Amino acid sequence: MRALQVQHTGGPEVLAVADVPEPTPQHGRVLVRAAALGVNFIDTYHRSGAYPMPLPFIPGREGAGVITHVGDGVEGFSVGDRVAWGFSPASYAEVVSLTPEDLDKVPDGVSLETAAAAMLQGLTAHYLVTSVHPVAPGETVLVHAAAGGVGLLLTQMATARDARVLGTVSTDEKEALAREAGAEVIRYDAMEDLATELPAAVKALTDGEGVHAVYDGVGRTTFDGSLASLRPRGMMALFGAASGPVPPFDLQRLNAGGSLTITRPSLAHFVATAEERAWRGSELLGAIADGALKVRIGATFPLDEATEAHRALEGRRTSGKVLLVP
Ligand code: NDP
Repeated sequence: MRALQVQHTGGPEVLAVADVPEPTPQHGRVLVRAAALGVNFIDTYHRSGAYPMPLPFIPGREGAGVITHVGDGVEGFSVGDRVAWGFSPASYAEVVSLTPEDLDKVPDGVSLETAAAAMLQGLTAHYLVTSVHPVAPGETVLVHAAAGGVGLLLTQMATARDARVLGTVSTDEKEALAREAGAEVIRYDAMEDLATELPAAVKALTDGEGVHAVYDGVGRTTFDGSLASLRPRGMMALFGAASGPVPPFDLQRLNAGGSLTITRPSLAHFVATAEERAWRGSELLGAIADGALKVRIGATFPLDEATEAHRALEGRRTSGKVLLVP
């Protein structure tokens, strides 16, 4: 089968299509022929070596497709089922081997492309608004990169919980998308000093009070401004590093900011049990099937153009989801 392989870590150019053996049928696992594969920032961290992986490896975590083989011991799934997964290795491939716990059935009326686009970023947005800082009605939260993959879903989920969302974006097109998702927009591209101008913009929009929580997947460039945008006892959820990692910082700043809380969560710890994984997956896909949650596919690339897909994502040129089609 065709798959993307990383032989050595580096820039997007290290993503190369290779002919590799199809995964073999195994007890307790299913084989899925992929229809669409999701591109996520974590794939870039694996590719670059920021998160080390044993070499060579097939990157990718997410996709959707049709089951072609059900291993002994697997219950609840049949050949022909349409399924999606959001957190499983070796996914940039035509055929992927998965456990039943990895999988959600894709509801009727939801395309495989939409399901592939929704899983990893949607499960992330879900755990952020339900578990990391459970958003309460009437709260105001700050979402960075609000027109990004996680950002558009997070904005919709927080507004659905009757919160007010302030969302940062860098272009006119992204501004329109974030507004459509329910955010009031802050243009951080126009700011020279994010550490002071961002909290000033947030305070101006919140009668000087600041926000209850910041969901920050941008990292290095936004971190200082995010902390300073919180009201006393606010929650800083640093969930990513699209602009680079945040350097070590003085814990005393949490006191100075007003007994702030900071966390650095990871999806893995919020889908650690089959029950929690199934709950989040069913709420996510249910909201999409109902039409309550919109999934934007911003760009689709053939599998052998994954290099371009990574360049676009890392180059800040994408909105919503980036997909690969095998
Ligand atoms: P996005 O679609 O949000 O893309 C990243 C966005 O970040 C860009 O479009 C851009 O939006 C903004 N950005 C700001 N500065 C930079 C920069 N210097 N370089 C690149 N992008 C920048 O990506 P995802 O939705 O896939 O992921 C968002 C973040 O969430 C990532 O940091 C990712 O690692 C993290 N994540 C964390 C998870 C977890 O469990 N901890 C799980 C999933 C994702 P703009 O142009 O508007 O500024």
